[in-house]
Amino acid sequence: MKILVTGATGKLGSKVVETLLKTIPADQLAVSVRNPEKAIGLKTRGVEVRQGDFDKPETLDAAFSGIDKLLIISSSEVRLGGDEIRMRQHANAVAAAQRAKVKFIAFTSAPNASESDFFLAPVYKATEAAIAKTGIPYSFLRNNWYLENEIGSIKGAMAGAPWITATGEGKVGWALREDFAEATAAILAGNGHENTIYELSGKLMTHKELVSTLETVLGKELPFQQVDDETYVEIMKGAGVPEAFLPMLVNTQKGIREGGLDVESNDLEKLLGRPVLPMREALEQIVSQISQTDN
Ligand code: NDP
Repeated sequence: MKILVTGATGKLGSKVVETLLKTIPADQLAVSVRNPEKAIGLKTRGVEVRQGDFDKPETLDAAFSGIDKLLIISSSEVRLGGDEIRMRQHANAVAAAQRAKVKFIAFTSAPNASESDFFLAPVYKATEAAIAKTGIPYSFLRNNWYLENEIGSIKGAMAGAPWITATGEGKVGWALREDFAEATAAILAGNGHENTIYELSGKLMTHKELVSTLETVLGKELPFQQVDDETYVEIMKGAGVPEAFLPMLVNTQKGIREGGLDVESNDLEKLLGRPVLPMREALEQIVSQISQTDN
């Protein structure tokens, strides 16, 4: 049995690989990466390192050859026109998986991807449909929201800046990448996950609730401002966020406010076989990492 992980030099993929290495022998694991030099450490540990780029379909035939279980980590492309690019990249990966006759595809997707109005959902909906169309058994891992996405705001709060949000009462199912990665590894190393859809999420909470927990962790009150989208954009511009990122940020706020990440599920803890790391402990970890890197 051979498992292949794409995006293995990325933040989530590297954690999936590390978790897998705790349960399966290195020679049952391969990675497909854009730049094999970045994966040299894995090679020395006995993991087969293959070169594969979703933008270059010709590289993917060799990359996916002889693989039983493939994890396609969604690409991180955020250039202008990014949706179209990502759909093409994912379609290239799915077509190559079909040509290589892989026996199982796991894909990191987004909450409620097939039905959602969330601005990020179309890429995931299209990719899920492309995978389903191949007839290859699949598992869609609909990761809700990495808590690490909030590191910038947490750093700001630690330095005394107000927490600015336009998310209203919208709820988010934050969890650390570590927990999403462990669940993903459990699916790849385990059995019985054919044709499954998992909504992976921590306990749903609003930004206000997140900030209250952060107050407990930091032992201080944090200024919290709920604003409208226009004000949010102005504040972000003023803080020096590049123009190109503003639509993404404001669409995230709007999407959360409109319930795009409010998907209730205990799939994550079921796959982990334990509770998702509680928000307080997860924030303590992040705060401690920030404190260490800042010193
Ligand atoms: P990273 O940016 O750390 O990793 C993305 C990975 O995708 C990298 O390994 C990158 O390769 C790889 N990649 C990018 N373009 C290509 C390509 N053309 N061909 C092959 N591989 C490619 O992101 P994370 O690990 O944090 O997150 C994984 C994915 O999850 C993201 O790519 C994104 O789709 C999604 N995401 C989900 C979020 C959530 O909160 N649910 C938030 C943010 C992202 P390389 O190592 O060479 O750069």
